[in-house]
Amino acid sequence: MTYLIEGETGDWEVVIGLEVHAQIISKAKLFSSAATEFGAEPNSQVSLVDAAMPGMLPVINEVCIEQAVRTGLGLNAKINLHSVFERKNYFYPDLPQGYQISQFLEPIVGEGVITLDMPEGPRDIGVERLHMEQDAGKSLHDQDPKRTFIDLNRSGVALMEIVSKPDLRSPAEAGTYMRKLRAIMRYLGTCDGNMEQGSLRCDANVSVRPVGEKELRTRTEIKNINSVRFVMAAIEYEAERQVKIYEDGGSVVQETRLYDANKGETWNMRSKEEAHDYRYFPDPDLLPVDLTQEFVDEIKASLPELPDAKKQRFVNDFGVAVDDAATLVADKETADYFEAVAESGNAKLAANWIIQELFAVLNKDSLGIAESPVSSDDLGKLVGLIADNTISGRIAKDVFEVMVTEGGDPAQIVENKGLKQITDTGEIEAMIDALINDNPDQTQQYRDGNTKVTGWFVGQIMKATGGKANPQMVNELLKKKLGLG
Ligand code: MN
Repeated sequence: MTYLIEGETGDWEVVIGLEVHAQIISKAKLFSSAATEFGAEPNSQVSLVDAAMPGMLPVINEVCIEQAVRTGLGLNAKINLHSVFERKNYFYPDLPQGYQISQFLEPIVGEGVITLDMPEGPRDIGVERLHMEQDAGKSLHDQDPKRTFIDLNRSGVALMEIVSKPDLRSPAEAGTYMRKLRAIMRYLGTCDGNMEQGSLRCDANVSVRPVGEKELRTRTEIKNINSVRFVMAAIEYEAERQVKIYEDGGSVVQETRLYDANKGETWNMRSKEEAHDYRYFPDPDLLPVDLTQEFVDEIKASLPELPDAKKQRFVNDFGVAVDDAATLVADKETADYFEAVAESGNAKLAANWIIQELFAVLNKDSLGIAESPVSSDDLGKLVGLIADNTISGRIAKDVFEVMVTEGGDPAQIVENKGLKQITDTGEIEAMIDALINDNPDQTQQYRDGNTKVTGWFVGQIMKATGGKANPQMVNELLKKKLGLG
């Protein structure tokens, strides 16, 4: 299922590389001890280093280095024991130093890989590098009609910039890549992945080429996209824009563009001629980062089980379908919730109930699994009641509805509402006898092997018992009564 853009001259392929800025989870900033908490009063978390006061010296925060290494290991990437911080020079009002401390020629993490679960099968996307750098401050344009204010709380906050290879071939793959990267970092505890708060931002490099062409064509970069949905929409728009340019006989200009989510369009921010020459050079205030292999090995030994491994375990140990397992491990809370429900003894049933019934309830009110109105304990009990034939799957839906709206213990709800499955075969046999007696035509058709009529018989019994009969039992009894068993 290749994603291609149909043009008048033929089909076009889209080539995408993503640069993701991920805020490192750390109490203090990359080179200062100022706090990093989101939403604080403007300029209340700014040290003299962050404000770039003369004579201030940066001191590296070891926690941030650990987090970058941890993330690199989670991406199966090469960890560079020797890396160097450099100054990236440019002027901007929210950058008091006049340069950003970043890594350039020698990043802390080299090549790695992220595996995507696509509907057509797994896809390995290369990671080019991961480097550490400082975030800038923030310009506030909406506080005053005439003036712009600067909030330096974010100035100096530690970021990881994770650069993919140009391996992505569709907006859907780009979206899946973002979600997978975010999931891995959340499992690792290295980035909270909160895109609304700006902890995760994406720049997308997009180019197109006729199917079969080997060379990459000129790319444009869409900057600072702040939701997965927008990443996909921006790429789709931009790729189609470029195809149109080529087909109209023009050429794509290398430029930086911004995505306007309201209009669903990208627009030019600056062209290549206006591009900065950053004049990188090693920061003389900072020594190179030299790590020992023991330091890296210790972090490696402490890594949690990551989504891919967890997915494989759910498939192997619980017999969950691969697609379902991929859905369940997409975030750690859901995976934990599933494991708790699976303790009921029927993991497949647990997976189905979470993915079909619970997700429907959560999606309806845009709730996360942590805000689920039904606890994993209670859902486990419900699944247990289905598994041991106390109630049918059909009745379980009614019980679940009560659990969602009123809460309560499923066994208690079943008891109170008299929903227990009828296990007394005599009662059902009597109903079947009556049904056969009253409906000779249908009975003959059943005997002749009309499967539709089989369903009708089962339906009648289910209706008569308010769904409390066990459909399988009804089927068996029917066959027996009609001499077909
Ligand atoms: Mn950057």
